[in-house]
Amino acid sequence: ENDPSPSTSIGNVELLDGLLASTFDKGSCLSRYQSYLYRKPSPYKPSPYLKSKLRHYEHLHRNCGPHTKSYHRTMGTGNRSSKKNVASKCKYLVWIASNGLGNRMLTLSSAFLYAMLTDRILLVRFGTDMVGLFCEPFPDSSWLLPKNFPYWKNWKNVETYENFRKNDINTYKGFLPSFLLVNLQHSHDGHENFFQCDNSQDLLQKVAVLILTSDQYFAPSLFMIPSLKQELSKMFPEKDTIFHHLGRYLFHPSNDAWGLISRYYEAHLAKVNQKIGLQIRVYNTHRTPHQTVLGEILACTHKHKLLPELDMQKSVISPLKNQTLKAVLVASLFSEYGEGLRTLYMKKHTVTGEIIKVYQPSHEERQRSNDNMHNIKALTEIYLLSLCDALITSQKSTFGYVAQSLGGLKPWILQKAYGETIPDPPCQRLMSMEPCFHYPPKHDCMGNGIVNITLLFPHIRNCEDVNSGFKLV
Ligand code: GDP
Repeated sequence: ENDPSPSTSIGNVELLDGLLASTFDKGSCLSRYQSYLYRKPSPYKPSPYLKSKLRHYEHLHRNCGPHTKSYHRTMGTGNRSSKKNVASKCKYLVWIASNGLGNRMLTLSSAFLYAMLTDRILLVRFGTDMVGLFCEPFPDSSWLLPKNFPYWKNWKNVETYENFRKNDINTYKGFLPSFLLVNLQHSHDGHENFFQCDNSQDLLQKVAVLILTSDQYFAPSLFMIPSLKQELSKMFPEKDTIFHHLGRYLFHPSNDAWGLISRYYEAHLAKVNQKIGLQIRVYNTHRTPHQTVLGEILACTHKHKLLPELDMQKSVISPLKNQTLKAVLVASLFSEYGEGLRTLYMKKHTVTGEIIKVYQPSHEERQRSNDNMHNIKALTEIYLLSLCDALITSQKSTFGYVAQSLGGLKPWILQKAYGETIPDPPCQRLMSMEPCFHYPPKHDCMGNGIVNITLLFPHIRNCEDVNSGFKLV
């Protein structure tokens, strides 16, 4: 059973129904082959077409990836003789990190999807805070951008897509830039990037290396690109499974992170009857006091029978008769939630006689950047949440989105609370597990305002938690 040899044949279940390639060395990435022991098999199966696209992509990545001739030729990093004017057939998409880990995982998966659709190789510029977080996702190659990439440090100096779009293509007189910075970061000024329009895509296609910065889950906008729509539908006949599949394909916790995840799971979650994940993201603890949120959590979990109420009358039920054990896994920057719930359930029996155990792996108090251990903790918790049977999450949080989609779960999402008022209803079940694209285009390609997105794209809806956002259903 615990055969350490890498050559043992690997079953379809382990490979997530053929989503993963079978050619990896097991020891280099334990999570890739062990995760199936921790999760129930997904009811969502990757389509044969998606699998063939992934295998095709892997092949391309192997041929064009870092340290290949084609790579050096395009990036101008090889020795002079290989720099001849022979155009390389390989095109690249370089991903640059911004914002928290949830945002990063969402943009990375969107970038990967875009790369697959446009025959580009995805390379990631990981700073020290991302190194050692994930395993390599592509066999016999690397997705890490080599440090001698010509714009490793000064990528902001590269010609921008925005300018490129504005200029008449003739001004380039055949000398199109080889590197282009595509900024898809959200902006509050209503600025449109028209990335979802075919004429933009025609331009971008001509550029060998795109450098992408974004903090958005822009995958839904790819469905709005006429030339890509059909291909996407073939890859994802179930449109609400994009992150579910791509996330499971791309994000395998490194052995260090997996050690933390698997040990925590075995110690606290493996033997319980039901696991409830609670992800509590509070941005302003003055406007939203902990006590209000705690009340809201109880209102939600009681209403939807996710957690039992406390027995105020004094136990009529003998707790020994019903030994159902439920674990609540709390992920939050603040310790008050785990502690508050633990204290409550320690004081009294529950009306159902169920035993409730509350666990909170960390409480970092504040969001930090450029901190590798902070990201490892975040990944550990996102992953543990994704192993739960049911989830309650906070609105507008990409941290929660990643957990829900990886887990294949439709969470109950808590309403935003202000002051001491507990919102009624306290929470709402999401219609799909797909993440929300918070700042989608507001105009179509003709510049007309988008009034009703569903009329234009039946698989895109406004998000429950962010009304102006788009999500796939
Ligand atoms: P979002 O801001 O909720 O959309 O999620 P992000 O993941 O993009 O950014 C929040 C960052 O704050 C995370 O990446 C973590 O670094 C940190 N953080 C927020 N909530 C938690 C939590 O529950 N646990 C841990 N360990 N870190 C958290």
